[in-house]
Amino acid sequence: MAGKLYLVPTPIGNLGDISRRAAETLEAADFIAAEDTRVTMKLLNHLKLKKPMVTYHRHNCDTAGPAILRRLEAGETCALVTDAGTPAISDPGEDLVALCAANGTEVEAIPGPCALTVALSVSGLPTGRFTFEGFLPLNKKNRRAQLESLAAEERTMIFYEAPHKLRSTLNDLADTFGPERPMAVCRELTKLHEQVLRLTIGEAQARYFAQEPRGEFVLVVAGRPPQKEEGDETGALSRAEQLRQEGVPLKQAAAQAAQEFGVKKRWIYNQITGKED
Ligand code: SAM
Repeated sequence: MAGKLYLVPTPIGNLGDISRRAAETLEAADFIAAEDTRVTMKLLNHLKLKKPMVTYHRHNCDTAGPAILRRLEAGETCALVTDAGTPAISDPGEDLVALCAANGTEVEAIPGPCALTVALSVSGLPTGRFTFEGFLPLNKKNRRAQLESLAAEERTMIFYEAPHKLRSTLNDLADTFGPERPMAVCRELTKLHEQVLRLTIGEAQARYFAQEPRGEFVLVVAGRPPQKEEGDETGALSRAEQLRQEGVPLKQAAAQAAQEFGVKKRWIYNQITGKED
């Protein structure tokens, strides 16, 4: 019988965040595939576990992935871990999952710590709809293209960033979304020096130009406020008529349609009552 790949999330800064199920899965697996075995060894020591490990990271995934798959096909179970957080989220784990999926090999994800959800939930920004952008491309042209594609984005946006690139990323965010756009800078989440700054992009620029960015960052940026179609008179009139048919009084129907379509309420009122402007 074929084995199984388990995706095991690990703490993003606080060892207490390892779940019982994650620890049990590590203990039960035949072997662990780790991004950096030295980092994972600290976790195993904390859990008092000993396990055979192989490495699986962005520089060896082309060969390590098929080697892990062969062991799974032979019936072994593997627990995939990264240095921190949920495997396959902004790390090469996604390639191993795709490889298993294409091969019909079972994959099971254990829920647990992930910097993106921790940052979004604490950001104070709307969480109902959001887009995760991971790391912006390094290449200037691709980076610009990705940011431009987000210029009209109304959902909350989440970015991962390394400290040495934070300043230039804040500049790019200000160029794309404007310095007044609200954001949350989430730093060192779950760690001793955790910090969540809720400010504007311009304020974040000023802060991190005065002080060297240190630690790990997730940037959560508010989406663009929904835009009204200015001056759609036909739309406004038919909306007001529709509201009246639904029993809404004329003045209120005119006010609501005016607000929705960017038209003066007096104009709608006059059109419906036949009064002069
Ligand atoms: N798979 C991981 C997860 O589930 O979040 C993310 C891996 S990605 C290679 C690493 C990035 O996650 C960092 O550059 C940073 O943007 C973010 N990150 C990880 N731990 C963090 C923490 N404790 N505080 C803030 N950001 C963190």
